[in-house]
Amino acid sequence: MTRMVKLKNGIDVPPLGMGTWNMGDNASLRSDEVTSLRTGLDLGLRVIDTAEMYGSGRSENVVGEAIKGRRDEVFLITKVLPSNASRDGVMKSCKTSLKRLGTDRLDLYLLHWRGNVPLEETVEAFERLLEEGVIGGWGVSNFDVNSMKELDRLSTGTSCVANQVLYSLDHRGIEFDLLGEDRKRKVVTIAYSPLGQGGGMLHNQTLADIAAEHETSLGRATPAQIALAWVLRQPSLIAIPKAGSVKHLHENSAAREISLTKENLAALDRAFTPPTSSVPLEVI
Ligand code: NDP
Repeated sequence: MTRMVKLKNGIDVPPLGMGTWNMGDNASLRSDEVTSLRTGLDLGLRVIDTAEMYGSGRSENVVGEAIKGRRDEVFLITKVLPSNASRDGVMKSCKTSLKRLGTDRLDLYLLHWRGNVPLEETVEAFERLLEEGVIGGWGVSNFDVNSMKELDRLSTGTSCVANQVLYSLDHRGIEFDLLGEDRKRKVVTIAYSPLGQGGGMLHNQTLADIAAEHETSLGRATPAQIALAWVLRQPSLIAIPKAGSVKHLHENSAAREISLTKENLAALDRAFTPPTSSVPLEVI
């Protein structure tokens, strides 16, 4: 049976989902992107993450097209920009996002990062949307330990169900403190850019060596699958790699079949050193 991650509001979601940053930016890729997201749903990757910021709404449009007729299969996340996070701004942004997504409800609505609007105001607006049944839960993104503590001080701050932050082999800072702080609050950590944005990290020799040791139903494992399996080893964490191509999507899905050994994990610790002290939260 697929391992599930339980959110504080009682909802169970699978730990592997799909990101959508840059989707919709290139018209010639759009059809592949829609097919990739639909294939992900076929494979049980129910969590789809987008944001009003991505392509100024173009990513939400792609997601809207992909989930047409399949809304009930999806755990839908979008984010409000800090500059729109006032009491009225949140309401307006939410309405616009819903329109682009072609739905009347979000499963999770996140504040994309901390801005100048008092947190209290944003949370108040989230709570109103929750009461109205427009969202199933709310959360934050790019919140460090201090910002999480600030949330604690708000009367309804503890309703926060998730914190979406950068986490990959080459960005491990949250292991020192934030991961534990989130867990203490029963806030689910959502790992963004788990593949290092498809960049240099995937060319690491240790990743290649470990990939050569593992097989999935697709054949010999790839470095990307190892990087993903490494993030997914964390309990109660959701990873949202973005795959614009169906090939990558299938690969990422099959990464769930990989169990890294103690030796693999030790080798990865040598190649990508874990933090030994608190580091400022890294963001992209
Ligand atoms: P990822 O680490 O998910 O990497 C995406 C890149 O990796 C793409 O270029 C993709 O190519 C490539 N890729 C995907 N699968 C494979 C594979 N199996 N093998 C090789 N390459 C692969 O980076 P993102 O920055 O996109 O992060 C994921 C998601 O997290 C975003 O899309 C967004 O939803 C969210 N996010 C949130 C942020 C926040 O501030 N809250 C910040 C950044 C991201 P291709 O598309 O061609 O398949």
